[in-house]
Amino acid sequence: MWIIANWKMQGNVGALRTFCEGLIPLMATLHHIRVAVCVPFPYLLLARDLLQGTTILLGAQDISPLENGPHTGDVSAAMVQDVGASCVILGHSERRRDHGEGCSLIHQKALSAKAHGLMPILCVGDAEGQAQSVITRQVRRALGNDGIAGAMIAYEPLWAIGTGKAADEATIAKMHRHIKSIAPNHPVLYGGSVTADNVAAIVKIPEVSGVLVGGASVRLETFAPLLLAVDKARAPASPESGPH
Ligand code: PEP
Repeated sequence: MWIIANWKMQGNVGALRTFCEGLIPLMATLHHIRVAVCVPFPYLLLARDLLQGTTILLGAQDISPLENGPHTGDVSAAMVQDVGASCVILGHSERRRDHGEGCSLIHQKALSAKAHGLMPILCVGDAEGQAQSVITRQVRRALGNDGIAGAMIAYEPLWAIGTGKAADEATIAKMHRHIKSIAPNHPVLYGGSVTADNVAAIVKIPEVSGVLVGGASVRLETFAPLLLAVDKARAPASPESGPH
């Protein structure tokens, strides 16, 4: 079960050190989860050094679709890979909103990520009241005609991101089934106000392969209980805990 931490534009050197110093020993005790931490670009190298030798993966939150050259302010897939990242969040609704990113650009970025050995985490999301066809289009266009082998898809309803109002389990199950019907070979994650309190129920939904966590992932005080809750929810039931 995947847990992807999306720090967004938050954190600093001190916070990253404290976070990793707590996360590393905790992860050594958990056996049913895979964790990736997606930090802002300036912290990738430090995070790489802090997480070296652990199972915790490092991720970025965006890349340019371009290889290199005169593109001031942009960061390429090769650079992100060079400083130790193995995955990248693409098409997050905040990038669609703040930078006008559209599906074809997101697909180009996904191709570049793949070409440089980064696992793309392709975000799709619907606004309240929008038809399912919005998700169909986003998924199809992000994957393109030839597909993006190995990509994960994160279903993040816009109204659930950062609002404290996660989608209910029936909605998550329905939307994940829908995405699976379009993209059967891709793990589908849920994102949107995931916390330690609601995550166990979410990861028990059969179509859910993991969660993308924003607000609750930035501090260990909220992230550690969330990891513990997923690990416990995914652990096989011990014979003693079953009915007698
Ligand atoms: C996100 O950033 O992708 C996200 C889901 O944020 P939050 O968990 O804060 O809703």
